[in-house]
Parts: sequence; C-alpha cells; structure tokens
Amino acid sequence: MSGITIALSKGRIFEETLPLLAAAGIVPAEDPEKSRKLIIGTNRADVRVVIVRASDVPTYVQYGAADLGIAGKDVLLEHGGAGLYQPLDLNIAKCRMCVAAPAGFDYAAAVRRGARLRIATKYIAVAREHFAAKGVHVDLIKLYGSMELAPLAGLAEAIVDLVSSGSTLKANNLVEVEEIMSISSRLVVNQAALKMKRGLLQPVIAAFEGAIR
Ligand code: ATP
Ligand code: MG
Repeated sequence: MSGITIALSKGRIFEETLPLLAAAGIVPAEDPEKSRKLIIGTNRADVRVVIVRASDVPTYVQYGAADLGIAGKDVLLEHGGAGLYQPLDLNIAKCRMCVAAPAGFDYAAAVRRGARLRIATKYIAVAREHFAAKGVHVDLIKLYGSMELAPLAGLAEAIVDLVSSGSTLKANNLVEVEEIMSISSRLVVNQAALKMKRGLLQPVIAAFEGAIR
C-alpha cells in the first residue's frame, strides 16, 4: 500500500488526535461517530485513517496493515510492543492505572495478611507484573469491560482498571487503593514502514512532535 494508513480508535483518542493531525496538515473527511465507515479518507489523497478497536491498534501497526497508530500505554503494555517503534508520548487520553476495591474493604490489611486476592481486570499483564513485584499472591480474572461490577457481584475482591476523574468508581462505591502507573497515549510506527516510507512518515512524526503540549 502506497501512501499512509493511520490506525485510530474512535472516541477520546480520535478526538484528541485531531489537533495533532491538523498540525501535520491532515484533516479526516468524516467523523467516525457519525459515519459507519471504517476507512476514512482525508484532505490528502495519500493519507487514510482506519477505525479499529483501541486494543487492536498495535496489531494493525505490527503487521503493517497501518503504518502509524495511536494507542494507550495500557494497550501497548498488554500487546507487548513487538514490531512497533514508539517514538512519541503524545500526552493525550491521560488517566492512571490503579487498584480499586469496595469502600469497606481493608486492602492494605489483606495484603499484609498474605491473603490470596481475586483481582478482576482487562489488564492481565500489567496486573500480574504489579502484584508479582509486591510479592502478593493473586488470582487474576480476565474481564473485557465493566470491571467495577466484579467486587459488587462477588467475583473478585478488587479490580485493576483505568481511572481519570474517579466518578465511575465513586458511583459504584469503590475507592482507589493503589496507583500502579500513569497512562497516556503514544504514537506507534511500523518498523519496516519507517524504513521504506521514511520520506512520507518522518514529516508526520515531526509535526506531531512539534504539536505535543
Ligand atoms: P472499548 O470501549 O471499545 O472497549 P476501550 O475501553 O479500550 O475500548 P476507550 O474507552 O476509548 O477504549 O479508551 C481508549 C484509551 O483511552 C485507553 O486504552 C486508555 O489509554 C485511554 N483511556 C481509557 N479510559 C480513560 C479515561 N477515563 N480517561 C482518559 N483516558 C482513558
Ligand atoms: Mg471504554
């Protein structure tokens, strides 16, 4: 495929990427929230955007189906980053990865006792690493969404999830008991494309770099 294909997820990443694209002179022809199209043209005949699930962005870029993509650090850590060049932290879609538990649950005491905790999460790799580093024994339970429900329904004692304002936790009577890491989204580039299409890709990467707040 000649030209540039950029993999983006709709929602916050698409919205927060628009100013960066504009800085590179790229304006998508359609709003993915309003259109059902998954391939969106731009003002530039040689640039197109493909709309994929946030967690699928690294996969499209890894295999070269997209040259560039924007993905959260959360997603990149779960993917592992194989085949991806990660030149820029774009400082967008900022939040934090944390452990949360029901307001009445004494998490620190449970950890001190060496209790075996059930942790529900979409982020198995990050959670495994976090608890292993602390020497805490956990049973990890993989979920695909609505993690906040798990402790309320008795599936797990705690969750590992992304938090920004904390209002979803609060609405479900959960509290953040430990911050694991801060999260933002990064530019990812297919390593082979970077060599083969350097003349096309480098100006876009440079424009993004210039536009990062
Ligand atoms: P889906 O909603 O399709 O299951 P998703 O939840 O991974 O996928 P989004 O909710 O759009 O997709 O999140 C995309 C990225 O935005 C995440 O990978 C993360 O890096 C970041 N993000 C997630 N939640 C928040 C938040 N509350 N505030 C800021 N950034 C967030
Ligand atoms: Mg979501």
